[in-house]
Amino acid sequence: MEVITNVEDDCGQTTKASSTSSTLRFGVSAIPSSVISTGDEGEESSEEDGASTSSSSSKSLAMEKISGASTSKIIDANAVVDTGENDDGDGETSSTPSDLLLPDWKTRSLQRKQKAAYLASQYPPAKQRLDKALSFIYCFVMMRLFYNLLSSLSSLSSLVALLSAFALAALWADFVSGMLHWACDTYGSVDTPVVGKLLIRSFREHHIDPTAITRHPFFETNGNSILATLPFAVILAFNPPTAASGGFYYFLMCYLTCSTLLLSFTNQIHKWAHSHEPPSAVRALQKMGVILEGRAHQKHHFRPYDRDYCITTGWLNPLFEKIDYWRRIEDAIQSVTGAVPRKDDQNWSQPGAAPKQD
Ligand SMILES: [Zn+2]
Ligand SMILES: [Zn+2]
Repeated sequence: MEVITNVEDDCGQTTKASSTSSTLRFGVSAIPSSVISTGDEGEESSEEDGASTSSSSSKSLAMEKISGASTSKIIDANAVVDTGENDDGDGETSSTPSDLLLPDWKTRSLQRKQKAAYLASQYPPAKQRLDKALSFIYCFVMMRLFYNLLSSLSSLSSLVALLSAFALAALWADFVSGMLHWACDTYGSVDTPVVGKLLIRSFREHHIDPTAITRHPFFETNGNSILATLPFAVILAFNPPTAASGGFYYFLMCYLTCSTLLLSFTNQIHKWAHSHEPPSAVRALQKMGVILEGRAHQKHHFRPYDRDYCITTGWLNPLFEKIDYWRRIEDAIQSVTGAVPRKDDQNWSQPGAAPKQD
């Protein structure tokens, strides 16, 4: 039994989406009490007393909100339903009978906040402490790397070599960021061992609440990238490129240093792409196309979040969309493993309550 309904995406656009009746029932009945009670429930939740203090009362609150007679639509199991566009002029849809419940936009908004808050709460405290410590260390290493690059410039040829190395490193970093972003969006779940809460969790949260990244402190935004690149950064900090050491070796060291810097800064660049007022120098780099620009990145933020994964410079996105790069990889993986792309991400990002947690 399929139900088609209008759904609102991150950018406020309304699109058709389909769902089975079992999915809707699951969405209503499987709200974990932990999801209801852990989050910042915003102004909607403040209307209800004690919503976050008791799991049982929270659950009944959510059920009450979802089944509220003034806002919800009760629909026929086989009906094609429009929750707002198909009304007959009196504000009510013409489909009313039967046993399925669709939440209204307010309930969907509340559910999104609850899901985002739950995912945010899964950031392990030990990882937070690690990210803080590594970010502090990395600030010094990063300054050393910038100093190494700038102090190595001694001639026009060294400048050309550095700019060439930067361009190649930017392509490489864009490719790596795209592959990692695609992999985390497409496969695994918050419950995947090791990487579930440490890595995949933040990708799920970002689709539900895209601007949350702009409120994250430096260590939370960049912790994973720094963790992955810090060993290389430390080695390179003590092995600066020197133009006197020869053409190819100088180019290679510049390339490695630029790659490390860009990869470690990818999430910061991503954060700036979501910021309304990034620093003026950053905005200039965005306008010049040197780093990911906000409007270009918004192409990714439409359900089902299946395009424009590259988030360092975004240079590779047009090419990858043109050659259908991501679909080809997904089809190949699905034909071998049977893994369905974005299955877990759609459980989180589609309207409805959070997927059941084990
Ligand atoms: Zn994504
Ligand atoms: Zn984003």
